[in-house]
This record gives sequence, structure tokens and C-alpha cells, in this order.
Amino acid sequence: MKIVIIGAGVAGAILARRLALLPGVELHCLEKVGANDHSEAGTGLNVGPNAIKALRLLDAELAAQVENASLPWARWDIALTDGTSLMSLPLAQVADNPGIRIRWSELYRVLRQGAGAAIHYDCTLESVERDAVDGRRTRVRYVQDGQRKTIDGIDLLIGADGRYSAVRRTFAGAPEPRHIGVAILRVLVPDTSAGLIDDYGQWFNGCHRLLAFRVPPAHVYIAATHPVEPGAPVRDEWKTEAAVRATYQPAHRPPSAQVQWLLDALCANLDDAHWARMQEAPIRYAEPDAGVLYVGDSAHAMAPTLGQGATQAVEDACAAALIIEGAAAAGQWDVRQWLAQIVRAREWRMRFVMSLSVRATDTMLDGCDPVQGTRWKTEAPFLSDLSCLFRDVALGHETPQNA
Ligand SMILES: Cc1cc2nc3c(=O)[nH]c(=O)nc-3n(C[C@H](O)[C@H](O)[C@H](O)COP(=O)(O)OP(=O)(O)OC[C@H]3O[C@@H](n4cnc5c(N)ncnc54)[C@H](O)[C@@H]3O)c2cc1C
Repeated sequence: MKIVIIGAGVAGAILARRLALLPGVELHCLEKVGANDHSEAGTGLNVGPNAIKALRLLDAELAAQVENASLPWARWDIALTDGTSLMSLPLAQVADNPGIRIRWSELYRVLRQGAGAAIHYDCTLESVERDAVDGRRTRVRYVQDGQRKTIDGIDLLIGADGRYSAVRRTFAGAPEPRHIGVAILRVLVPDTSAGLIDDYGQWFNGCHRLLAFRVPPAHVYIAATHPVEPGAPVRDEWKTEAAVRATYQPAHRPPSAQVQWLLDALCANLDDAHWARMQEAPIRYAEPDAGVLYVGDSAHAMAPTLGQGATQAVEDACAAALIIEGAAAAGQWDVRQWLAQIVRAREWRMRFVMSLSVRATDTMLDGCDPVQGTRWKTEAPFLSDLSCLFRDVALGHETPQNA
């Protein structure tokens, strides 16, 4: 059995570690960047309690390594930029365990280290296609160390190559993005806040929101949102220091000490800030007739509002690993059956996660009222949805009958 994973990001690295251990499997994980190149992972991530729960179930050792490189995400506080508190939620109320706060580059480092020699770095993908001899299998061509290489007769090809997945584009066309109507500015800054910023907090000035949390070692991740017409570009005039201060500073009262520090830190690091527009892509998990699986962002790029992008990449990888390992242990090596089981486990879950992430974006849309928009997030229906989000990890053995 030949398995090839394209991409050693969050989902790819977890799968590479697990599937390399399967008896009778020849596994290759091809990653385009170098072993120590984390240049595309320059921010902080809050990874949901559900990812940690899933990873602990799959691989307690790897989960412990990830947790050791992070801080716990245990609270969610929302306030106005003048400091007026709107919500203060201990995650223990809606989750079985804390989530984590971690530097993205650290998450990559730990997960890639965990997969060891299964990952081949510096691989430039040249083509992905159906195998010329057997159309139910695939073939990959790539260049590594100046050498052209081909892997053919691939029984299972896993597209773990992120939001702009070449694998998905090849077999299903580039997914049409849907813009949510919010632009987001993100930066990782040294922590000079002297304890002002720690666990996950959000501060609203009208529909403009600041978000921040501390990550080890000694940094603070800051994200700021700005409504934008769906499909319209991010405007240059929003990016100046004067515009940033005017956007997030309360009009008639001084900012809270936390917000003052965040604004100063944000403005001191504007040159390193990364702007993007929130968007999502339609869910697609598999091409069963070609033996292709998509995981993480390649299967479902989503709105970042509830911190579920990397979180769901972890859940996907844990589900796929558990399903494949369980089937292999039972002597069942039919890739189509594996794919069917993974799709059954994951599709309904992703529909729920993506729709909740978009609903929770309401407070950041043009003209919204953050006070009202936060109030419904403190009420029972939303807390019950959060509890499903953080507790009901869907790993293949608990798919509801009616899903
Ligand atoms: C600024 C920012 C902040 C974010 N904050 C959060 C957050 O707080 N919480 C959260 O849960 N999520 C967050 N996300 C989303 C999260 O980072 C992604 O959802 C997550 O990384 C997806 O994991 P993945 O494994 O699908 O893909 P990725 O982690 O993107 O990995 C894809 C891998 O494939 C490799 N690759 C791509 N193309 C090829 C190719 N052709 N050949 C070989 N390799 C290839 C890439 O180099 C990469 O290593 C954030 C994203 C951004 C951009």
C-alpha cells in the first residue's frame, strides 16, 4: 500500500507520523519548504479545546509535546475598548479541557519533529495526476535537491497542502471563495505588556475588534478587524498609524490600559502586519474514484472567528488516522471504504463548525452593535453550540445516526 501526503503543515505532519507506523505501508510526505523554514507561520494561534481532546485520544505523547510548547487557553473575555466588560467565559463551562495558545511556527516545529524522517523537505511539486496505468490510483512528480522524482501507483493521495491546495485544484478545480465581509490585520509582537495581556481577549470599538493573547516565549499575538464589502480589496488608507488609532480608540472615553498597550504595540509593528480578508471555501473531503483525500484547509478553508482553522486540521488528521488505523488493524485495506468512513465522520461536523464560525462573526460586520452581538453569546443556545464545538470531536466512532 502506497500513501503520499502533500504538505507537512498541521494536518499533514500528524498524519505522516501516524501512517508511517502502519505495517505494509510505504509512506512519503512531501513538503515544499525547508526543514527549518517557518516563514509562512509568523503569527500566534489559539487552538480549540476540541483539537487537544482529539489529539490526546489519538496520540497522547504528541499531544503532551504540543501542550508543553504552549500556554493553556482557558478564558474568553470580551470588552469594549474603554474597558467595559461584556462577557467573561471560563472555557471549562463549555469544554472538557483547555485549548492552547501557541506560536504557529512552534506548532509546526513540534508536529514536524514528531513525524521525523517521514517528511521529505524542499520538494517542488511538478504534477499530480491519475496514474497512467491504473486510473483508480494517482501519480506525483516532484523535484528535490535538483533531482526529478516520480511516485506512481499511489493508493491513497492526501492533499494536506493548505488553503491553495494544488491537489484539490487538480482533481476538483480551485474552490470558489466566499467572502465574509471582514478584513483582518495580524501581527506577533514582543510582550512588553507587563502582564496586561495574557489569555484570550477581545475589545470592540463599534464593529471594529481587537483580539490578543500571550504566547510562549514572551510574545503577544494581536489581530484587528475591519468590515469590508465582500470581494472589495483592503484599502491602503486603513493601514496607517493614524487610521489604526482612530479605528480602535473609543471616541468619547480614554481606552483601557490593555487597549492602549495593544494600540501602541500594533502601531510600532505595522510594517510586519499581515492583512487578509476572511473567506471560506466549500467543503470537499475526497475523490473516492481516484483514492484522494483532502484534510484541513484544503478540504474546508473557513472563517477564523472561533479559532477553528488549525483546530479542525488537527481534528481531520486525528479522525483520518484513527479510521485508517482501525481499518488496517481489522485487515480492511479498501481505500474507498476508508474515504467513505472519513467523509461520514467529518462532513456534518464541518458544516456545523463553519456555520457557527460565520454566525459568530456578526459583531464584526459593518454597522453591528457589539453589545447586542455579545449578549446572545452569553445565552444558553450559543453556549450549547460552543459546548458541541469544543466537546463533540468527530473522529469516526461517534458519528450520529441521523447525520
Ligand atoms: C494569520 C493567520 C492566523 C491564524 N490563526 C488561527 C488561530 O488562531 N487558530 C486556528 O485554529 N487557526 C488559525 N489560522 C488558520 C490555520 O493556520 C490553518 O487553518 C491551518 O494551518 C490549516 O492547517 P493545514 O494542515 O490544513 O494547512 P497548513 O498548516 O497551511 O499546511 C499546509 C502545508 O502544505 C505545504 N504546501 C503547500 N503547497 C504545497 C505543495 N505544492 N507541495 C508541497 N507542500 C505544500 C505548506 O508549506 C504547508 O506546510 C490562522 C491562519 C492565518 C493565516
